[in-house]
Amino acid sequence: MPPARAVFYAATVVALTLSARALVHPVPLGWAVVALVAYVAGVLAGVLVLRLRVFVDAVVEGPRGVRGIVLTFDDGPDVRSTPRVLDILERAGVSATFFVIGKKAEVHPELVRDMVRRGHTVGLHSYAHDRLFALRSEGWVRDDLERGMGTLEAILGERPRLFRPPIGHTNPRIARVIQGLGLVVIGWTVSGGDGVRTDPERVAARVRGRLRDGAIVLLHDAAERGDYEPAGPRALAEVLEASEARGIEVVALETWLDMLSPPSLPATPS
Ligand SMILES: [Zn+2]
Repeated sequence: MPPARAVFYAATVVALTLSARALVHPVPLGWAVVALVAYVAGVLAGVLVLRLRVFVDAVVEGPRGVRGIVLTFDDGPDVRSTPRVLDILERAGVSATFFVIGKKAEVHPELVRDMVRRGHTVGLHSYAHDRLFALRSEGWVRDDLERGMGTLEAILGERPRLFRPPIGHTNPRIARVIQGLGLVVIGWTVSGGDGVRTDPERVAARVRGRLRDGAIVLLHDAAERGDYEPAGPRALAEVLEASEARGIEVVALETWLDMLSPPSLPATPS
């Protein structure tokens, strides 16, 4: 069990115990407020920080002792920037995993097919990429993910197995849907921050400083709303050069997934 989840469970038991005790022996209001704020902050951290894996099992780095890095790209496909990323990857002879947005894939299915044709893996990054994903009902989340999976199945002939939640937000409702659909959640170890940064030099520098064996690198092959030129494609060549210079190979995510066994990797229901 991830350490943060164990802490969350323990904090929940303590909170319930103290609440029950407070009915008999009232506690000072100040202490009660501090405890409540701390608990809510813990829940929020669990929702916002996928790496903590409080609510879902997620692959956030390679298996222990593994060599190399894995490249992942979010928020595509985009007709302007995705082909550039595919070309750079092809020249470098490496494969990556693309977490595509269902409604964008619908508009440019040829780009999604091109990803697979050129040796990459395609995962789902939700259908609508709703920023309020973590506030939606269980039914809403299920409809969104099923629509996204159906879109990719229609394009590629098979349902996606891998999923990255929009903005990395999760909660118990999302966890139930993911488990029901048999999706494997992929987080990240190193983010280029190119969802908010537009300077490729800074994006490359941020990734370069954090490169290490076993890291899952997150970049974007498209801007979320397609309204600016993403820095990820322009930073990619530099990231590839830096990893090569340090003797760190780029490997396919599947090679790591094959090495992981439950409970690190959620089982896909048959
Ligand atoms: Zn995204």
